[in-house]
Amino acid sequence: ESAGVYDFVIVGGGTAGLVIANRLSENSYTSVAVIEAGDLVFDNKNVTTVDGYGLAFGTEIDWQYESAPQAYAGNKTQTLRAGKALGGTSTINGLAYLRAQAAQINAWEHLGNDGWNWESLLPYYKQSEHFQIPTEQQCAAGTTYDVAVHGTTGPLKTGWPNALQGKDVTSLINATYTSLGLPYIEEANDGSMRGFTRYPVTVDQGLNVREDAGRAYYLPIQNRTNLDLYTNSFVQRMTWDEASTNSTPRVNGVMYTDASGKQRTITAKKEVILSAGALRSPLILEYSGIGSSDILGQHGIKVKVDLPFVGENLQDQTTGAGAYSSNTSFSGTADYVGYFSVADIFGNDTYDLNCTVRDSLLQYAASVVEASNGVLDQKVMEKLFMIHHDLIFKDQIPISEILVTPGENRMDFSYWGLLPFSRGSIHIQSNDSTTPAAINPNYFQLDYDLKQQIGTAKAVRKLAGSDALCDVVTGELSPGLQSVPLNASDEVWAQAVKDSYRSNYHYISTAAMMAQDLGGVVDTNLLVYGVDNVRVVDASVIPFQVCGHLTATIYAIAERAAEAIKNRYY
Ligand code: FAD
Repeated sequence: ESAGVYDFVIVGGGTAGLVIANRLSENSYTSVAVIEAGDLVFDNKNVTTVDGYGLAFGTEIDWQYESAPQAYAGNKTQTLRAGKALGGTSTINGLAYLRAQAAQINAWEHLGNDGWNWESLLPYYKQSEHFQIPTEQQCAAGTTYDVAVHGTTGPLKTGWPNALQGKDVTSLINATYTSLGLPYIEEANDGSMRGFTRYPVTVDQGLNVREDAGRAYYLPIQNRTNLDLYTNSFVQRMTWDEASTNSTPRVNGVMYTDASGKQRTITAKKEVILSAGALRSPLILEYSGIGSSDILGQHGIKVKVDLPFVGENLQDQTTGAGAYSSNTSFSGTADYVGYFSVADIFGNDTYDLNCTVRDSLLQYAASVVEASNGVLDQKVMEKLFMIHHDLIFKDQIPISEILVTPGENRMDFSYWGLLPFSRGSIHIQSNDSTTPAAINPNYFQLDYDLKQQIGTAKAVRKLAGSDALCDVVTGELSPGLQSVPLNASDEVWAQAVKDSYRSNYHYISTAAMMAQDLGGVVDTNLLVYGVDNVRVVDASVIPFQVCGHLTATIYAIAERAAEAIKNRYY
């Protein structure tokens, strides 16, 4: 049964999908449908509560996918969270609004993406943003900014929460970061991130609620008559226009199960845009017959476009935690972040690490190629890893993020490696789209990733033990001196890191924007190679990890993609 005919059908009303829906429906002659598996969550306290990070975990709006057992980390699986709601993962995330380091966006251009660099992306970051200038009180608490790099008229409200921790805590934390030689940065979103600061978040200060994609991009335009939203509707695959005389295959819609469980189709006259997230969009490509012919063949799916890199190149980061007891109770929102370069973490050992990693690149490439069953190419991976290496060791972009959260009689640190080399994959496991996928991020597959995480865990211990905190911090709760003594070897640290890590939930690159011979799935307009009218617009297209958190960059990419779509048709 057909639900209707539209110019554009968007699969997934998430972070990126709602940007596309909003921008395309600005033209009242253009009809747009959004099909979203989840529901509206504007009244869900687990979503709206500004300080409520984690409340939504494990509830009905968390897909909580499960990874394959992680061979390089004790064979345990990991819970991979993602939002199932209008607004997608922006409804359950940590709210951080942090972009990227200019050099790493510039590196995209070396991957066959002409015209994609920091300077050309900056206008789209701004276009998406409505920066709420901090109040006097917030400035007194320690917020700083450069309004020139922010947008002030876009849909997405950013800024600082109302209940900030005050000046005294800020001075304490500033002195702590400074003790490791890290400089203060006034503005974290101008493309140069090394240093520490209080970071902005996605928040509606007036309503004192989370600002997510639904609130920013959908609520204000929900009454447009040329925009239809289908919630609780799960897309299985796209349908092909068998009558098309175009030399490149065209799709003409999607198949989905509606809120009542009925099987339906919906027609797209112009394009289908996949915005189902990095752990879904590649699967929808595979179910539709776009992917590796080997994998599709195994599950009896007819190959329409042989595109072996679909679902490859999966990259994520790993998070660790350090917890300390304290004699002081702090209240209010803590938003302290430090971005450390390789030299900040490894000091005099940086030179040796550089040599070791450079000498390992061929072997890193070989491991990744082997793990991909030969789908990835040795020479290509060497090239990609050389670019990756240079970002770390030549450009010295941040490699580690450390957040400090002063709380009730405790001080918590969380940290992660920003630029792991390990790569994995995501693929379908049957021809039934309700079967969970095989998701393997291959955490700690390559030894730089572990070394980086150990170095950062040690830096956390140094921060906690700094002079600045000695009157406040009273003991180490985790990892704890019993399991990781002060003089612990790297082997002991490695075990502690692997025993307690979790996914950082920054999955990317499963339908990467790159030249096709480098392993790309979409071109610079985010059109899928070999198909006339399908785009992927979400975290799947990000080819290399970013130092910031993902949404800021996803909103910018989606703004730019919407413009590319408009350029094609108007
Ligand atoms: P999503 O926003 O996930 O959108 C995909 C949408 O598609 C979802 O609504 C989903 O329900 C829908 N969908 C999926 N499959 C189907 C289907 N078959 N049919 C119909 N609909 C479907 N980033 C930050 O910037 N700051 C942070 O502080 C931060 N913290 C995070 C904390 C957590 C716990 C997590 C999980 C992520 C965090 N991130 C953070 C990352 C960031 O939120 C995500 O990377 C980003 O929101 C992903 O956007 P997307 O458009 O790729 O996908």
